[in-house]
Amino acid sequence: MKKVEHIGIAVKDFSISIPLFEKLLNTNCYKTETVATENVNTAFFKQGETKIELLQSQTADGVIAKFIEKKGEGIHHIAFDVEDIEAEMKRLQDEGFVLLNEKPKMGADNKLVCFLHPKNTNGVLIELCEERK
Ligand code: ZN
Repeated sequence: MKKVEHIGIAVKDFSISIPLFEKLLNTNCYKTETVATENVNTAFFKQGETKIELLQSQTADGVIAKFIEKKGEGIHHIAFDVEDIEAEMKRLQDEGFVLLNEKPKMGADNKLVCFLHPKNTNGVLIELCEERK
């Protein structure tokens, strides 16, 4: 794995959280994008090498809505940049980690992504992401 690519934060309402993070980070949100397959809206901020990804559910029963229901707003996942996502998935699987998707899937920001089950990672949802060329 390379650097932390981004940190995902679950929020209820973009109209509140985007201006909040713009103030906090002193930078403008440079992109919003919907990931239809996950029923989620994303908003991105750049802070040096790392990004912040805000996540807002599109539906009342989406994964982000359920997360907020259980845990409240806050850090949802940490994403690591990887060079070869399939090789990294194989390595982690061999180490006993559980992948939430068997094959890399298309995520936001032109990335192939895979999530690891938080039960094997001290409760932290980990995302692997590989920039698509
Ligand atoms: Zn992410």
